[in-house]
Amino acid sequence: MKLAKRVSTLTPSSTLAITAKAKALREQGHDVIGLGAGEPDFNTPQYIIDAAVKSMEEGQTKYTPSGGLPKLKDAVIGKFKEDQNITYSANEIIVCSGAKHALYTLFQAILDEGDEVIIPTPYWVSYPEQVKLADGKPVYIEGKESNEFKVTKEQLEAAITDRTKAFILNSPSNPTGSMYSEEEMRELGEVCLKHDILIVSDEIYEKLVYDGAVHTSIAQLSDELKEQTIIINGVSKSHSMTGWRIGYAAGNVEIIKAMTNLASHSTSNPTANAQFGTIAAYTEDDGSVENMRQAFEGRLHKVYEQLVAIPGLSCVKPKGAFYLFPNAIEAATNCGYDNVDDWVTALLDEEKVALVPGSGFGAPENVRLSYATSLEAIQEALTRIERFIEKKS
Ligand code: PLP
Repeated sequence: MKLAKRVSTLTPSSTLAITAKAKALREQGHDVIGLGAGEPDFNTPQYIIDAAVKSMEEGQTKYTPSGGLPKLKDAVIGKFKEDQNITYSANEIIVCSGAKHALYTLFQAILDEGDEVIIPTPYWVSYPEQVKLADGKPVYIEGKESNEFKVTKEQLEAAITDRTKAFILNSPSNPTGSMYSEEEMRELGEVCLKHDILIVSDEIYEKLVYDGAVHTSIAQLSDELKEQTIIINGVSKSHSMTGWRIGYAAGNVEIIKAMTNLASHSTSNPTANAQFGTIAAYTEDDGSVENMRQAFEGRLHKVYEQLVAIPGLSCVKPKGAFYLFPNAIEAATNCGYDNVDDWVTALLDEEKVALVPGSGFGAPENVRLSYATSLEAIQEALTRIERFIEKKS
């Protein structure tokens, strides 16, 4: 059977090959440390689990409205009011099966063939693929390491054509952990307003910010920017709910309506009981979101210092998320490899440490390490990386 062009041009996930190899080595009995995880290593807080179980016991096991339960939309509206002081109405919100699905539905709703979406590099791996799946064209602008991997208004302006439809802003960022300041956001926002470009603001790491950093949403900066922006967010990272698959989009009524129509013919609705759990997540608080944030912050301090002390690795200090994105080209070269991908493969073969090569994020000189795993495991992995570099140099 000949498959559709749509799927044959999809790039397989960059984490896949290395994860498969790590798994094979583990099955052979090797002690492999994987630092590829994209999810918090904590269990979902108990009050959320209890709320979901209670909803099932009470018979809430049926279809819900496509765009999400009205009570959940209210809870999301409350979250935006409290955290960002933005006022949304229910018709400006759609709840989806994860933030990833919210993004997918958004691109399907706004892109025609050849429409361009500006994506800063390094990017989260699914953005370009989702744009392509909607027949759109990803246009990359380089977030330079010297500028903490952030793009400037000049770069954005230079990339705009008459086909540009949207610009993706991901702060805090996966994979770099960088965050845009309010001033930087205002500058980028002005360019988008001038050219009438939709801002897709992926704020999924909003709650995971460190050392006093404050998350700002570009949509909170003015009424015009609110109307020009679709916020994407969810509970996967904030409440350690990756498997529950609840995310949402907030913004322009017409776009949200189109997304809701699309969702009604694809998923029908996000899982009912996950929605009930999320209502609890947003309307109650047992302190666990902040406890998890503090645990990540503590790990970041310890592992960052250990990482930058390793010869040949340099790293922009992240302000948020749970990744480190060091530049490893010097280490790779010193070890005799002419690219970081090969160095990552050799590191897994010889020291049994699995990192994610930066090439999949559009940054081939870097590697991504997740610290969403135990401190002991990360520290042992860094000890092995240092040993590997010393041995090979
Ligand atoms: N956006 C970014 C930047 C992410 O890193 C992720 C998950 O890794 C998502 C969106 C998707 O999150 P969800 O689990 O809600 O689909």
